[in-house]
Amino acid sequence: MFNSLVVEKDEESGLASASVKQISLDDLPDGEVTVAVEYSTVNYKDGLCMSPKGGGLVRSYPHIPGIDYAGTVEQSSDDRYKPGDKVVLTGWRVGEAHWGGYSQKANARADWLVPLPQGLDTRQAMAVGTAGFTAMLAVMALEDHGMQPGHGPVLVTGAAGGVGSVATAILAHLGYEVAAVTGRPDTADYLKSLGATTIVPRDELNETTKRPLESETWSGCVDAVGGAMLARVLGQMKYGASVAAVGLAGGAGLPATVIPFLLRGVNLLGIDSVMQPYDNRVRAWQRIATDLPMEKLEAMINPATLSDLPQLGADILQGQVKGRVVVDVNT
Ligand code: NDP
Repeated sequence: MFNSLVVEKDEESGLASASVKQISLDDLPDGEVTVAVEYSTVNYKDGLCMSPKGGGLVRSYPHIPGIDYAGTVEQSSDDRYKPGDKVVLTGWRVGEAHWGGYSQKANARADWLVPLPQGLDTRQAMAVGTAGFTAMLAVMALEDHGMQPGHGPVLVTGAAGGVGSVATAILAHLGYEVAAVTGRPDTADYLKSLGATTIVPRDELNETTKRPLESETWSGCVDAVGGAMLARVLGQMKYGASVAAVGLAGGAGLPATVIPFLLRGVNLLGIDSVMQPYDNRVRAWQRIATDLPMEKLEAMINPATLSDLPQLGADILQGQVKGRVVVDVNT
């Protein structure tokens, strides 16, 4: 028997709630690889999956959330993995449509796993987690579209959140000047410690403007917010620069015009971490191991246990989690 955070639905109220329960290997869905999970984390989607209505993501109950995890292979029927291998999993709708990592053991398809790169341990991998992995994908996409250091500041929105914190640290390490947008002024010192050179108050960018173009300011942008802020930022990009659209913390709408695309050749790059092909996953994890300073990652970590998760899920939905939560599932 081992511990898992199980979300169950109350048939009378129709609402779901989560608690730590003991389950056995026989309770887990089938999978080619059994992983002894060491660490997981808390993402916005995890907050939705633990919420009373499942956020439209959970297909059936009982459910084990946890959209990402890292651990050690315990047994494998697939040649690519053997007992003792260190692995990391993000995406593939694990923790949403499939049982996830809020458990001391998990079964996975071999295709879902990535070998842990040299230079990262399982705790660090979950300090990075889906949020950090996605931040790296965003930086790689911006580089692939011509972003280079020395051409002006790069904007990071939702900077004190998970995606934003890791993007800020990676960009600063790569030599970019980073302007960090936050709605929490008390995170300024934290963001500067990650390498941000300028703090931009959220209110400065949160309102729509009638002007489709403003002065050319940003040489790139990692956007975790979407909505009115993304629309505003598009009109402030330098000629030919790109925005990597990662998230929707501020809304799914996009009240923008096409003028920045037509008159300034601005690019809007979509970033998806869930169905990302294997080769690019390996490339991103290797880049994380080399381009994310571990002492900065350490500064982002808030440790947690399985029993802390229901409260943390509610907190992240309120935009109240700073940096990266690392859940030690064995404490
Ligand atoms: P967090 O909650 O950790 O960070 C989001 C941040 O956005 C907050 O910390 C806050 O930053 C800011 N924010 C919150 N609400 C608002 C608002 N109403 N207006 C403006 N800014 C706001 O989440 P993550 O970093 O884990 O994820 C960020 C987004 O990226 C989410 O929407 C998530 O779903 C998405 N995502 C997408 C992925 C993909 O594959 N495309 C993968 C992972 C995440 P501050 O306090 O600094 O202002």
